[in-house]
Amino acid sequence: MSSAFTCLYCGKEKQQSESSLEHAIPQFMGGEYAPKIFQLPNVCKTCNNNLGLWVDASYAKSWFITNYLAEAARLLCTKSDDPGLPLRCMGRAQIPNLNVPDGHAAEHWIGPSGETVTWIRPHDERMDSYTGGNPIDTKKKPSVAYFFPVSESPEKHALGLRSFHRALDKRKARKILCAELRDTNGAAVNPKIWGFDSPTPDEETDRDVIRAAIHAGNIPVQLSVNTKFDQRFMCKLALGIGYSLFGEECLSHTTAAEARKGVWPASDGTKSAIRGTSTLFAGDTPFAKVAGYPGAVAIIVMKTGPSWSMCVSIDEKLPFIIELGPGSMASQHVNPEEGYALLLFPYLENCVELTMAALIAHRLEVMKHPALEQIDAIRGAAAQFDAQLLATSS
Ligand SMILES: [Zn+2]
Repeated sequence: MSSAFTCLYCGKEKQQSESSLEHAIPQFMGGEYAPKIFQLPNVCKTCNNNLGLWVDASYAKSWFITNYLAEAARLLCTKSDDPGLPLRCMGRAQIPNLNVPDGHAAEHWIGPSGETVTWIRPHDERMDSYTGGNPIDTKKKPSVAYFFPVSESPEKHALGLRSFHRALDKRKARKILCAELRDTNGAAVNPKIWGFDSPTPDEETDRDVIRAAIHAGNIPVQLSVNTKFDQRFMCKLALGIGYSLFGEECLSHTTAAEARKGVWPASDGTKSAIRGTSTLFAGDTPFAKVAGYPGAVAIIVMKTGPSWSMCVSIDEKLPFIIELGPGSMASQHVNPEEGYALLLFPYLENCVELTMAALIAHRLEVMKHPALEQIDAIRGAAAQFDAQLLATSS
């Protein structure tokens, strides 16, 4: 009775008891709403546990991806009682006289209408370039988030509040409101009703220190960037998507072996020879415009020259391109002439699967794709909502 399997990511033989279900497309990209073919049974627990934190999060929590995903969500937010938008990260805040305990960092975040969030959270040096720090630590270790709302309009106020809670509710964070809330009759409202904690005397001091810095109009921030934030992730996604679409055949080529080297770099420094162009070096390629979609995480698979390649972009930006294998590979999911496109809308908890040819036809308005017409309508409503929000500024 043989129940061993070869792990997709590390290539090692593993017992069935060591397998764990893995989404080839991670959650932050909207992977849980992707078609079933992207669920992988052949990933070992060691890979599943390690790669989420060191590979997926290195990409997802990089300053670039964090902020472009926030932009993408904004294009699809149609009303103030939507779930709230992702906050944008400005970087590590250097606020004079702010009490930041040892082993902690103060981070500066901005809400959809310019709300300010100062988050004093545990710092993990190994994840210096992760926005929000170590994502597992901040779920378990205490932190404090100070929220400075805007009050110019009820819509802005509501959206800001939702966005703050969306960002921090899954963290072990005390939430301090840094404004007095009044109802329409002018009576004071208890912040607890809005999900905030009562500040301790120390937190009141910190709140005043941050407020003074905001009023002075200058909070210096420091940004830590790892330029190789996407290298291992590109290889991991190439293996996951390649296997999901092309099956076992994908693994018999040297491309897969090179991708594995990229996921688990050798200690002797040998580099993966996989061909691709990483996020910060692909630049503003016209390809990302064609092979992307506004507000979407776009995964495009097409034949380029002698190979199958994958292009991944967010809101038509930050593309990376990586080889999946030789063009001779066949797939029951991919039309060799028309290519494959998966547009994920994590903010809408939705995805659209189509051919690359159908995507281009839709974009050129040659032939409209019904599911994308619906997305376009949401984007239109979101643009109106955004203009409304802007118009209500004092
Ligand atoms: Zn493994």
